[in-house]
Amino acid sequence: MQIYNDFDLTNYNSYRLKSKCKTAYFPENEDDVIDLFSSKKNFILLGSGHNVILSKNYYDCNFLIFNGNFNSVKVNKEANVIIAEAGATILKVSEIAEQNALTGVEFYYDIPSSVGGAVVMNAGTKEGETKNILKKVRYLDLTDMSVKEKVNEELDLEYRNSMFQKQKDKIILKAWFQLTSGDSLKIRKIMNESKDRRWSKQPREYPNSGSVFKRPPGKFVGPMLDELGLKGFTVGGAQVSKKHSGFIVNVNNATGEDILNVIKHVQNKVNENFNINLEVEQRII
Ligand SMILES: Cc1cc2nc3c(=O)[nH]c(=O)nc-3n(C[C@H](O)[C@H](O)[C@H](O)COP(=O)(O)OP(=O)(O)OC[C@H]3O[C@@H](n4cnc5c(N)ncnc54)[C@H](O)[C@@H]3O)c2cc1C
Repeated sequence: MQIYNDFDLTNYNSYRLKSKCKTAYFPENEDDVIDLFSSKKNFILLGSGHNVILSKNYYDCNFLIFNGNFNSVKVNKEANVIIAEAGATILKVSEIAEQNALTGVEFYYDIPSSVGGAVVMNAGTKEGETKNILKKVRYLDLTDMSVKEKVNEELDLEYRNSMFQKQKDKIILKAWFQLTSGDSLKIRKIMNESKDRRWSKQPREYPNSGSVFKRPPGKFVGPMLDELGLKGFTVGGAQVSKKHSGFIVNVNNATGEDILNVIKHVQNKVNENFNINLEVEQRII
């Protein structure tokens, strides 16, 4: 396991907000995770940091970061199942599926995420969501420090939500994805087309964390903000993207506070004009 003091989190959050923490731990296997929590330390968890807003410049506490470690991905060919550790990227899951002619997980190809983060957020696109392919999850339950498993139906998976958002004392260790056999060429085509479509619409040229708000029933966030003239609205270095208003981008050394101020303004305007309470999808830390 790697441990770093006074750790710079800038490259571990996709908004690229400048922030540090007292200590960062990078576990490499299940035992590392169990040992860390057995030592009774408290941790702030990060997967790959693509859905978080770091609201502080300095965290006087420990971070546990799965990104880039604890990342094995295995295939059970007979059962068409992929088994992935929490720190693996879902890009890797989709590429291994393609190499093994397994279909169902093409939509993961362009979502920047760890396996753990994808389960917590029930990550998905128009083409599918984690709920459709997740078979089972293995997690550490901090209430009794035992490792448990739950199947899909027990995980309260709904639009960008799961039981892990309410129960912070459950640490995801591993996930099983149920796929079906397919054709590698067709799978690759779907992956590439989905990526091209998304990159043409999303502001990938600036640091961001994807959609800021959950989609309210019957409405789309981007067009609502456009109607209110909020495209390009800026506080400090944070801006409602000029390319896609559903995103906030870091255009010039934004702080977490700048991002939260843009969010507050947008929420107030949408509430005043549409009587809708926009819910923030990103996790504020
Ligand atoms: C350009 C861009 C495009 C995006 N497009 C999409 C999209 O199409 N669809 C979509 O759903 N999302 C999208 N997102 C958002 C993001 O990719 C997803 O929310 C992703 O699933 C977050 O995963 P992560 O590993 O980065 O999680 P993090 O941001 O690191 O963490 C998210 C939450 O999960 C918790 N967590 C992480 N790992 C664990 C674990 N092992 N156990 C328990 N809790 C854990 C964290 O504490 C935090 O609360 C996009 C983001 C970007 C930057």
